[in-house]
Amino acid sequence: MKRTIVKLLVLTFSVMMVITGCQKETFKVYAWLEGKVDMPQDELENYFKKAAETGIEGILIECHGGYPVILQDSSSFRDSAALVILRNAAVYAKKYGVELHAWMWSTNRCEANLRELHPDWYQVNGLGQNVATDVKLYNREHYRFLCPSHEESVEYLKDRVRELAEVDGLTGIHLDFIRYPDAILPYGLHESRGVVQDKVYPLWDCCYCDVCRAKFKEQTGKDPLELEDPTSDEQWMQFRWDAIANMASEVCAEIKKCGKVSSAAVFASPEESKKLVRQDWVNFRNADYLFPMIYHHSYAKPDEWVGTATQEGIEALKEAGNPAVLYSGITMPKAEDIPMFVQIVKDAGGKGICFFQLKRTLKHPELWDAIAAIDRTMK
Ligand SMILES: [Zn+2]
Repeated sequence: MKRTIVKLLVLTFSVMMVITGCQKETFKVYAWLEGKVDMPQDELENYFKKAAETGIEGILIECHGGYPVILQDSSSFRDSAALVILRNAAVYAKKYGVELHAWMWSTNRCEANLRELHPDWYQVNGLGQNVATDVKLYNREHYRFLCPSHEESVEYLKDRVRELAEVDGLTGIHLDFIRYPDAILPYGLHESRGVVQDKVYPLWDCCYCDVCRAKFKEQTGKDPLELEDPTSDEQWMQFRWDAIANMASEVCAEIKKCGKVSSAAVFASPEESKKLVRQDWVNFRNADYLFPMIYHHSYAKPDEWVGTATQEGIEALKEAGNPAVLYSGITMPKAEDIPMFVQIVKDAGGKGICFFQLKRTLKHPELWDAIAAIDRTMK
């Protein structure tokens, strides 16, 4: 009897080894998708059906964006519209076996009721203007950033995470805009946005709210508003890098506590991110995946830069001892260019790619065939 059990155990172990040996790592393909409460059901179903057919691992659907729809209980902060978007999508995610990630805006929260009730939770620029009430940065109505030094802001985001996590069939929660406003816009956008940003100007340099100033003063004895050149003060830069990284790490921990995969969309490369938006994403702890948005045209860079930024990100994560997996986010290219970008990412050591965004397939259905044809093998 004993010998039979031992034989059985050996056999089971051998079978497991064979199975494990066969499971080679594959190159993953993800895609972002704009979400709307009134997206036609057939359109929504088609994205998930096609995703399954073409081997897209998961769809990151925008459920809270720049112009949030407030449905029903607007006196509470429950994001009913986000829940509707996710529940609608979850039906098809389950039907076709595609991962569903809730893509939510994070520090940048534009809901009218929040701005009205808690303007003090929002950031203040170097001119002393509150970004929720006093100024429309870059003339964008949706540029309203919460201050990461306010514990209430962090708790607010955790509340949103918990309510999204209730949706049956949700795989993960994906944080977007987990950063400061652009102190400097990506270089390729300066002309179209009509800005001169040869250096950091106080209009776009945040957060000089009372809480941040007091905290920084307590730590260093300095008032950031009185710094001659705030960007050359290492302690002041570090203070802001830490504030966002701490917030991201806490919210990612909450996502995982809810049993979901945590991820974030971050700026293109670690150094540019710190410089442009004070986002030290290499130190976002508790994130399972990080999706740098390597939109090279916005940075006026050539195609190969997708590989450069991918490599920089992977190396910096490794150096920081951060186990998050990096998937390179790129704007949806022309169908014929997809193999080239996949190769660039693979050559840089990337494990996957994420396309922004699937809506482009409506005008260019040929993209589906190109996505299906992606070589998923890894070296
Ligand atoms: Zn602040």
